[in-house]
Amino acid sequence: MSYTGRFAPSPSGPLHRGSLLTAVASFLDARASGGQWLLRIEDTDHQRSYAHYADLIQQTLHTYGLLWDGLVLKQSDRLPTYLDHIDHLAAHQHLYNCNCSRAQRRGQPRYPGHCRQHVDLLRPEHSWRLRVADLSVSFNDLLHGPQQYHLPSTSGDIILRRRDGDIAYALAVVVDDADSGVTHVVRGSDLLADTAVQIYLQQLLGLPSPVYMHIPVLLDASGRKYSKQNHAPAIPLDEPTPTLLDILKLLGHPAPASMHGASTQDLLAYTTLHWQRTKLPRTLTLADRP
Ligand code: GLU
Ligand code: ZN
Repeated sequence: MSYTGRFAPSPSGPLHRGSLLTAVASFLDARASGGQWLLRIEDTDHQRSYAHYADLIQQTLHTYGLLWDGLVLKQSDRLPTYLDHIDHLAAHQHLYNCNCSRAQRRGQPRYPGHCRQHVDLLRPEHSWRLRVADLSVSFNDLLHGPQQYHLPSTSGDIILRRRDGDIAYALAVVVDDADSGVTHVVRGSDLLADTAVQIYLQQLLGLPSPVYMHIPVLLDASGRKYSKQNHAPAIPLDEPTPTLLDILKLLGHPAPASMHGASTQDLLAYTTLHWQRTKLPRTLTLADRP
């Protein structure tokens, strides 16, 4: 079976341990399957994306031996492609104008649907929302098994194009995965439930669905996701081996002591040969870390 995987970081900060863990897992799963591994910079959110972080992320991946195949795809180069797909959804009445203010939506976990009845033509000065059908989406996750999510109570009607013209991540990700021929998505389990609306979009757009595997996200000592927002420190570039050894251990693939002085590339090559999905953990904590 052919395998194309990818890593899709957002350049809103440097990689941290959590995002490096995802990169390592998706790289190893691809290489252990004899697959390609692509890199995509998810910079559709122009207010939070910085070119220097995209450069730093690539430098970090290099340092850690995570060498990708082919050219780096940048979402900011692909706006016309996304708009083609938006047009398709609009032509089939799947989108509506939303002019709700932030205040109207405050405190609501999902969009309550004030503008759902809008049938007028889409207007650039408004956000465009996806009118999700009242149905449940099922899929099988390679690590978590069968999943089922009811769209109205999970994602609700998400915005696909913001009033400032930015395209939502959910649309960009399905279009890019399909255009790049991605067959396997390995990413953090914080996106497990988001997969449902992404599969729904694939179906509306006639795109294939990849296989999904959601690996655990790192939690900090207080149980929060290890993330840029929580000021997770950037990972070291000068001595990468100890950090990579830690990450391999967290992924259930500790390297033998004889490999502890190895280069990152040799460590990854060794782990590729021994990679087994059944050894992956379902949850992780970083409670014992600084
Ligand atoms: N860009 C997303 C993130 O950094 C990842 C999206 C994905 O892997 O599908 O959280
Ligand atoms: Zn609205």
